[in-house]
Amino acid sequence: MDDVIVHGGLVAGQPQDIAIQDGRIRAIAPGLASTAPTRLDATGKLVLPGFVESHIHPDKAFVADRAPGLRAGGPTPQVLLAELKKAFTVDDIAHRARRALREAVRHGCTTMRAHVEIDPYVGLRGVEALQRVQSDCAGVLDLQLVAFAQEGIFHEDVTQGLLREALQMGLPVLGGCPYMDAEQHRHIDWFFDTAEAYNVRLDFHADSSDDPAMLTCTYIAEQTIARGLQGRVTLGHLCTLDMLEAAPRAHAIDLLQRAGIHAISLPATELHVKGRSDAPRTWRGVTRINELREAGVNVSLSTNNIVNTFTPYGHPDLLRQALVAAMVAHLGNLEQMAWLLDLVTVNPARALGLTDYGLQPGCQADLVVLDAGSPAQAITEQVEKLWVLKAGRVVARNTRTSEVLGWGEGF
Ligand SMILES: [Zn+2]
Repeated sequence: MDDVIVHGGLVAGQPQDIAIQDGRIRAIAPGLASTAPTRLDATGKLVLPGFVESHIHPDKAFVADRAPGLRAGGPTPQVLLAELKKAFTVDDIAHRARRALREAVRHGCTTMRAHVEIDPYVGLRGVEALQRVQSDCAGVLDLQLVAFAQEGIFHEDVTQGLLREALQMGLPVLGGCPYMDAEQHRHIDWFFDTAEAYNVRLDFHADSSDDPAMLTCTYIAEQTIARGLQGRVTLGHLCTLDMLEAAPRAHAIDLLQRAGIHAISLPATELHVKGRSDAPRTWRGVTRINELREAGVNVSLSTNNIVNTFTPYGHPDLLRQALVAAMVAHLGNLEQMAWLLDLVTVNPARALGLTDYGLQPGCQADLVVLDAGSPAQAITEQVEKLWVLKAGRVVARNTRTSEVLGWGEGF
């Protein structure tokens, strides 16, 4: 017997019923007969597979009130955050991460890849906290953890060992940050060697700079191909791509495509952090979302930072990131706004290697029902997420009420 039926929602533009049994989608068709005890009336509302946050930092969320804000010529957000990390306890990290995850679920997220910082400042306290939160949220949100070297690995002799220890603790992804070490290629080589030794996926914070000489994504793509790791490597940021001339940019994008690299743009953080010097410039740091997609690269959008020195107004709402991307990357045509929602659903699911994700029979019933009749309306009006389902169970429900008062008849 079915457990839930979602009635009349719009799937790929057509009204459909979705029958859910034992946490999975049993059938999708119009007018399904079902005696499911839970019946959700989604008539005329957009139904999407659950949002997937592919790059987010719950361990350093909600600390904006502990440090001064950014200013031209002042300390970088990394420096400000490194100081704060020394005082992070396991309980403090878990408390803030739980708050971030709760907000993400409320906004339609059903799966998340979170970077957990590992360095001499915070040790493995972030891993311990996030593993605790991971088991707390089982059944509500799938949380994939990345062993992430935000501070680089060649400044001291502690971090490399800690990263290996985190992989032994079961983290399935290794995260590098080449621009935090002087020898970027040596940093990248270490991460490839270690990922191969532990048989884990790779996820780099890559190319944060506005200096084309600092570009690393081409080297990472070459290494990916040489080692036969196509499809297992993800790159977040890719800000430097935006500074390249057209020909080298096209070459780099082609290489990323051939290497099966998953690209993740983090527009809210780039818009806050980049172009902060006094020099006149228009660079805002957001990568070439449209060009990457047109070349066949798997592109996603993610939230990255939540209320910290990197993005004081960051909030884990991927519908918001779709609007930010539409504004910054000139993606406002109706057809563009339709595919922008792929960048927060099916594309990041591919980047994370999810195998039973999507709106097809047999897939895990992770769904979000939006209070909109089209993707453009959903993005433009930043509509409410009426229901969020994780494995067929309603894990969040939202309503918004409003009245416009004082207007005469006829309005
Ligand atoms: Zn990040």
